[in-house]
Amino acid sequence: MPARCLVRGSVNVDEFFQVKEIARPGETISAENLVKRPGGKGANQAGALARAGAIVDLVGAVGQDAPWVRDELRETGIGVGDVSIVEEHTGRALIQVNELGENSIILYKGANYASVPPYAIHPDTTHAVFQNEIPLSSTLECIARCASSSQISTIFNPSPMPTAEELKSFPWHQLTWLIVNSGEALDLCRALGLAVPDTSASASAADTARPLLARLSSHMPTTNVVCTLGADGVLAQFTPTLLGGESEPVYLPAAKLQGTTRDTTGAGDCFTGYLVAGLMGLGQKPVATAADYVAVLKRAVQAAGMCVEKRGALASIPLATQVEARLD
Ligand code: ADP
Repeated sequence: MPARCLVRGSVNVDEFFQVKEIARPGETISAENLVKRPGGKGANQAGALARAGAIVDLVGAVGQDAPWVRDELRETGIGVGDVSIVEEHTGRALIQVNELGENSIILYKGANYASVPPYAIHPDTTHAVFQNEIPLSSTLECIARCASSSQISTIFNPSPMPTAEELKSFPWHQLTWLIVNSGEALDLCRALGLAVPDTSASASAADTARPLLARLSSHMPTTNVVCTLGADGVLAQFTPTLLGGESEPVYLPAAKLQGTTRDTTGAGDCFTGYLVAGLMGLGQKPVATAADYVAVLKRAVQAAGMCVEKRGALASIPLATQVEARLD
């Protein structure tokens, strides 16, 4: 039976405004270019899974104002049978990208917060991926359904971060994998009341993240925790259940770029999609030993690096063959 992934998440229209500098309070600026593309963390991660070669079903909603988004997602290879068309406006992300490739984003939730009709989870589903751009209650309901099936691994990327109250009552025991960036790791430790050590300002990103990862891993001992570090790579702590014994955290530096950073939008989503595709056995079979999991991380790091070399979110996610060609 081939692995199959469910993504329950957001779909947006991404509007990219190319600007010299990101607007400051009180300032009016002109954009040099405007491009509209499908986006939203749910759609982006589903797109990365599809580009990595996975069978992926997306559950979400768009408005009647942008049915083209669903068509484009279908063309990307995503199963969109459960992407409903609802009365609310399609979710929207207004993204300013400056000359350095840095971005600033305004999100409008729209249809992502509409209720979707009841949906079935495909019986072949082996992995399920969640973010936090839809109501947390909808995410929790789906995680609980998936966790009640011993064959489904659940993966949560809590972005944007839920509130401290929501995080305190979150059912961490239902999660197989948690994926956070370094800022989210810090926020999560604070929200959960985990002591955050002072690290020297000169410490590397990995050394700053290590104690956070250790605290998160002890708080959720059955969850594998992956912390992305932007241009500094990734740090991961696997559970004893995964590897059959205790292991040290794994650090991988970021991929070597061809050229400069053009746009970091969607790098995290590309990383998540490729990581999950790797866990599904695409690219490396079987995935069982520590070395196999490191190879999965390495492929995800390579894909995310290639994503920042190009503009756009979904549009900049590379194909599996392109990633393969860049791995040593
Ligand atoms: P998020 O987009 O969720 O904030 P990060 O910024 O940590 O996540 O990026 C996710 C991954 O993308 C990183 O672990 C890294 O592999 C890759 N990445 C991000 N920025 C760069 C960069 N400037 N150069 C190379 N790789 C990058």
